[in-house]
Amino acid sequence: MSFDVEAVRAQFPILHRRVNGGELVYLDNGASSQKPQRVIDEVARYYREFNSNIHRGVHHLSQQATEAYEHARETVRAHINAEHAREVLFTGGTTHGINLVASAWGRRHLSRGDEVLVTAMEHHSNIVPWQLICEERGAKLRVLPVNRAGELVMDELEKLLTARTRMVALAHVSNSLGTINPVARVIEMAHARGAAVLVDGAQAAPHLQLDVRELGADFYAFSGHKVFAPTGIGALYGKLELLEDMPPYQGGGEMIERVTFDKTTFADLPHKFEAGTPNIAGGIGLGAALHWFGELDADAVAAHEQDLLAYATGRLKEIERLSIIGTARDKACVISFVLEGAHPSDVGALLNQQGVAVRTGHHCTQPLMDFYGISGTVRASFALYNNRADADALAAGVARAAKMLA
Ligand code: PMP
Repeated sequence: MSFDVEAVRAQFPILHRRVNGGELVYLDNGASSQKPQRVIDEVARYYREFNSNIHRGVHHLSQQATEAYEHARETVRAHINAEHAREVLFTGGTTHGINLVASAWGRRHLSRGDEVLVTAMEHHSNIVPWQLICEERGAKLRVLPVNRAGELVMDELEKLLTARTRMVALAHVSNSLGTINPVARVIEMAHARGAAVLVDGAQAAPHLQLDVRELGADFYAFSGHKVFAPTGIGALYGKLELLEDMPPYQGGGEMIERVTFDKTTFADLPHKFEAGTPNIAGGIGLGAALHWFGELDADAVAAHEQDLLAYATGRLKEIERLSIIGTARDKACVISFVLEGAHPSDVGALLNQQGVAVRTGHHCTQPLMDFYGISGTVRASFALYNNRADADALAAGVARAAKMLA
């Protein structure tokens, strides 16, 4: 199998619309990806044909919706190669997944003097929940540094993993830099010291083949909307024994076995962590998206994205006064850059005039921006449906902006 980018583009209706007089060049995939027709259709079909609440319904629609929702869970399980479907929790997204672990796991496992290790390139979603629980439990947050290329300083990891380290939480792929972190190695080293590891897979899910068992991750969180699925849905993988041992995160319907005013007992996994009516359409959409994604030749997709990364990087490097932030050897197709003398948001606004969508600012990684001594970057983040013409449009737009903002 090979990868036909034009055939893939044809499946994304939004890519055919025009913005500001030009054809849309969508390079903000790190923030949220577009959706293929198949996903849009599956979500619409749920609302059209069997919309109803799941799990306790005796009627036909409820049973059909339950089946579709649980089938989607099984699709997620297979996609990430988890052993059991009950190790897959539906969440609202990566942020929700990390908060769930920080709160429920943290309450059980963190006490005074314990340490949680994050990295200097984390998204605020993988910093703040840990800060909150550390404060509550009297634990300390430690930070693994990065080098100027935007790679983890692995020599420091050995020193930072102490007898008090209980959790290491890190991104699989950096949203601001594109760095692909050596998570398997980090997990191996953390486990050797008895620490658990949570991987923030928000940016890895659309680019890499995920295998939680091969990685050995204890927890793995990602968002649907970055992987061609709807917003408001995501998944959290947790190892069975860890999830079983954790107290519930939120209380409510769906997550109980029996409620009395004296005592409540909780439902089995995964429902113990899924209080309230879930995002049924979102779950079905996530299943459809991963099914769609899984049908593509993953190696060919990776080769296409690496080609785009090299091509777009080369084109941008031709522009004077432009510096790329994040030059790790192992990178996903994300290019952050600054133009000397120009504010990132001005560059973004000029690109928008030509229908080129990028993101500007700190990308929810303020500590990382502080490390580089900048307030933000312009970030072009590619998806599998982007092509060389998109990279050309970006380079032309940035060259124009560089002239105008000189
Ligand atoms: N982690 C990383 C690395 C991200 O890029 C993002 C989204 N920008 C998140 C976490 C948070 O994802 P969400 O907003 O979908 O919860």
